[in-house]
Amino acid sequence: MASIRIAGLTKSFGAKAVVDEVDLDIDDGEFIVLLGPSGCGKTTVLRMIAGLEQISGGKLFFDEKLMNSEPPDRRNVGMVFQNYALYPHMTVEKNLSFGLGSRPRVGSRASAKQEIRSKVADVAKLLDIEHLLEHRPKQLSGGQRQRVALGRALIRKPSVFLMDEPLSNLDANLREKVRMELAKLHDQLAITTIFVTHDQVEALTLADRVVVMNQGKALQIGTPSEIYSSPADSFVAHFIGTPGMNLWTLPCRYPNGLSAPGDGIDDSLGVQLGGSVTLATEFSDVLDEAGELVTLGIRPEHLRPVEEIKSPAAMIDFRIESFEQLGSHQLAYGYLGTSDKEPGVVQLDAKYRCRRGEHVTLAAGFDDVHFFAADSGKRLSGPNILHLDIRVNA
Ligand code: ATP
Repeated sequence: MASIRIAGLTKSFGAKAVVDEVDLDIDDGEFIVLLGPSGCGKTTVLRMIAGLEQISGGKLFFDEKLMNSEPPDRRNVGMVFQNYALYPHMTVEKNLSFGLGSRPRVGSRASAKQEIRSKVADVAKLLDIEHLLEHRPKQLSGGQRQRVALGRALIRKPSVFLMDEPLSNLDANLREKVRMELAKLHDQLAITTIFVTHDQVEALTLADRVVVMNQGKALQIGTPSEIYSSPADSFVAHFIGTPGMNLWTLPCRYPNGLSAPGDGIDDSLGVQLGGSVTLATEFSDVLDEAGELVTLGIRPEHLRPVEEIKSPAAMIDFRIESFEQLGSHQLAYGYLGTSDKEPGVVQLDAKYRCRRGEHVTLAAGFDDVHFFAADSGKRLSGPNILHLDIRVNA
């Protein structure tokens, strides 16, 4: 096992940096997921760690040993890919043992063979593929092939496991099953793992920590719950969640025509954003920080009909335009107030009777209201962050 440290890791193709100064410290035995949209640089980070791609800038350490120029076969990494990369003409047993056979070894031929056989048997047992050892890859299901690919990486006892979308070729049911198997395997073996995916369910269920990437940059590194409840910027806020967080960029308007809170303001009025959002006055500081425009973020599952929230932090006039009944709940799509420019979505109880064109007053509690700078998208400090801190320290 190994700890990994990357500092300012950069990869450029021509003038373009497709991985741009990524910093990351990975503990020995940690399960890290690189998550982001297609083309954001996840695979390139993985390939640089494996030694398959030259590093253009920055440093890579395994257990504090600089690895930048170390060839791939000296890094002791096991890789698993989306397409399994099995040899079609070899049996499962041969596929598993192939890498071992090509390694120099000491001792007699017979004892070396015996050692390989015993390693294959151990891995096959661990992955429950003992009954498949004589099969060829084309005789296996997708899940079985992926287990063989895992076995082939595991048999070499890697210090680091690198997985590039290993579940993408599996159908939904199998994906869930293999995902759970992977989590169990990691609990058992505790091999430092970096797993690449664009599927947030995979990321949030498997990771100790998630690295959310976009356009070559690591936007946020945190536990699944940190990423969900305190997104560092509006991209992360919208990328995480199904559907993602509602983001509305609106002008701040204080009561009585004043441009900022101060003497003479009736506290009970709250602060207006655009024409259809009213916020608790506790948010005055964060809105001051924001300037004239602010991006308000609230997750669809945190918006409730106003009568269900005891002390609302935000109240929203929402017009329902369409809805999807999903059995356990429904998603209502629409716009703020009377506009056609501020779309949003709210998760309502399955029994709620949605009507097209209906205006509902929705509300959210303090911890569920987020603010981002309208220009940079960066999270602004605010009461919601204070609330979280208080709970953590309690
Ligand atoms: P996906 O989820 O689609 O696999 P990704 O996040 O893994 O995407 P990468 O494969 O790391 O993204 O690619 C990042 C960017 O680098 C992309 O814009 C890609 O086109 C570019 N890129 C990757 N390899 C090369 C190359 N050899 N030459 C030029 N550009 C490349």
